[in-house]
Amino acid sequence: MNPQGRERMDADFTRNLLDILFEGVYFVDRDRKVTYWSKGAERITGYKEREVLGLRCRDSILMHVDERGESACDRSCVIAETIRDGGAREADLYLLHKDGHRVPVSIRVAPIVDPGGRIAGAVEVFSDNPTKDTTARLIAELRAMALLDPMTELGNRRYVEMQLGARLKEMERYGWTFGVLLADIDRFKNINDTHGHDVGDRVLKMVGRTLQNSIRSFDAMGRWGGEEFLAVIANVSWDHLSSIADKLRSLVEKSSFTEGKDSIRVTVSVGATLARPDDTAETLVKRADRLMYRSKAVGRNRVTVGRDD
Ligand code: GH3
Ligand code: MG
Ligand code: MG
Repeated sequence: MNPQGRERMDADFTRNLLDILFEGVYFVDRDRKVTYWSKGAERITGYKEREVLGLRCRDSILMHVDERGESACDRSCVIAETIRDGGAREADLYLLHKDGHRVPVSIRVAPIVDPGGRIAGAVEVFSDNPTKDTTARLIAELRAMALLDPMTELGNRRYVEMQLGARLKEMERYGWTFGVLLADIDRFKNINDTHGHDVGDRVLKMVGRTLQNSIRSFDAMGRWGGEEFLAVIANVSWDHLSSIADKLRSLVEKSSFTEGKDSIRVTVSVGATLARPDDTAETLVKRADRLMYRSKAVGRNRVTVGRDD
């Protein structure tokens, strides 16, 4: 076989190998244009290879952000840094799925060096959070127990009520503290009025998934009502509750999908509070609701955390 034939075979072999990996893999050249996109990358992001080849990673796809919702593309792109200095890097970030929601990923970046020793680009390997399996199991269990909201695939109101009941019992017995966090989509009626009910439904799914993806496995997130989501956060301090609330808010703000020429995005107003020994599920949620309305009153896309309202 001639050397070109052998090279092609090597390339096909590498491609097949990368495609069977569960992790996502992609290559970029020195301009950060995507030159290869594995099957795993298609699975995790929802984007097919033909949709992303030739695009620059920061143009319109993925748009990694960190926990605080800050862009990891502009100031501190790990790929750009690796192309600059040849060093490998790792990071925990949130990428943008084609459906608009944010997906937590661990990424590793390494330089691609050509035979002359020059840096020709970089390879990024990323894996979605191991909680993905847990999420699939949770959905199946909730469905079996009629505790699933079929549209968003989050727990329904009854599920959240059961979680509240369980946490209240634990607080009474063992003194364990917990918090609740109510997130209401801002001016959601405008989305329905402007883009139609179907787009409204897609927004609900997008927000629900982003919210579900940003809590820990022992916390609970559910759809409380139309465009309201309630999280029950176990074992939490005021500071931690406050940072979770702000993380949820900013990750929703950074979620978006395109519909025709429009980029569809929404924000949420959040109210969060810790349970008190004299609370019932009702008093607790009412307090979170009043705090959430304070976030609305001061301009929306805000978080209000408080003991009292
Ligand atoms: P605010 O910032 O004050 O919360 O404004 P808002 O427009 O979000 O509030 P409002 O309560 O007036 O509107 C909520 C809208 O949510 C009205 C209702 O039609 C819509 N909605 C509720 N459930 C669904 C649903 O399942 N699908 C869609 N597409 N819309 C829904
Ligand atoms: Mg509402
Ligand atoms: Mg609303």
